[in-house]
Amino acid sequence: MTSISVAAEECAAFGQRQQVVESFPGRDTNLGDLKILRALPIKGKRLVGPWCFLDRYGPYTFTEGKPMDVAPHPHIGLQTVTWLLEGEIVHHDSLGYEGLIRPGGVNVMTAGNGIAHAEETPRHHSGVLNGVQLWVALPETQRKISPSFQQIEKVPAVDLRGGVAQVFAGTLAGATSTAEHCSDIIGADLTVHPGSELTLPLNSSHEHALLLLAGDAEIEGQTIDERNLYYLGTARSEIRFGRGAGARLLLIGGPPFPESILMWWNFVARTPDEIAEARTAWEERRGFGEVKAYQGPRLSAPPLVPLARPNPAS
Ligand code: MN
Repeated sequence: MTSISVAAEECAAFGQRQQVVESFPGRDTNLGDLKILRALPIKGKRLVGPWCFLDRYGPYTFTEGKPMDVAPHPHIGLQTVTWLLEGEIVHHDSLGYEGLIRPGGVNVMTAGNGIAHAEETPRHHSGVLNGVQLWVALPETQRKISPSFQQIEKVPAVDLRGGVAQVFAGTLAGATSTAEHCSDIIGADLTVHPGSELTLPLNSSHEHALLLLAGDAEIEGQTIDERNLYYLGTARSEIRFGRGAGARLLLIGGPPFPESILMWWNFVARTPDEIAEARTAWEERRGFGEVKAYQGPRLSAPPLVPLARPNPAS
């Protein structure tokens, strides 16, 4: 059997079996008119636990228009996880779900064997947008399940000495998100109070990474910045943030993902043929359904050419 040639990115686990602090620069790109920093996949094309994709956008302030306006597009083999620091986004999908997300809540869309969705700034908005969009790779046994959508209005927040952890995925510091995932996982938004130290318990069988969202932070004597993803390896039972001016950080992790995945456009698959098949299905309006609530045309799939790597619609 011959496989068609696709410029898909093959991604595999970092899987460092020890504690490290390695920085990986994010790259600037666009999602429509929205400027974003893409922190995952990084050069080296790796996952952090089951997390395979991380876009950071904002903070933006605006008076007109919609900075977030992603027309209907398809996904397979992944979950999208939307987390906001400020502002609001409305999600519509081909199952008919509408989900208005605000800070403190999380939207989780399980693509499974195929879903289409659109995300946009709602008509009534606060004029700010600041958040992250993540993808979680689904494991082999569950990557073709039926699609679903889950909205959680308020995720658990744990008060810690020196800060607060809002846990939107998995369990951290005794708090468990009710978001449904198919692999062990952790996703949290950490606040470190000004002038305080924060020590956070971690699952030592997980690998972790951090992205500074705002403020200043220091880990193991190293000042970190907002342009890099900091990979922390495994075998950590805690992480300590030094005293500083205060910070917000994104923590992601999970056990090193046991499979290699193939990412192309908005698809997470295992083979180029699966990607080609999903692309054809979308172009022929099969298998994904329609996002009826969105006003305007849907996104077309980019061409399947061997070298050009299409920009995902996160
Ligand atoms: Mn999407």
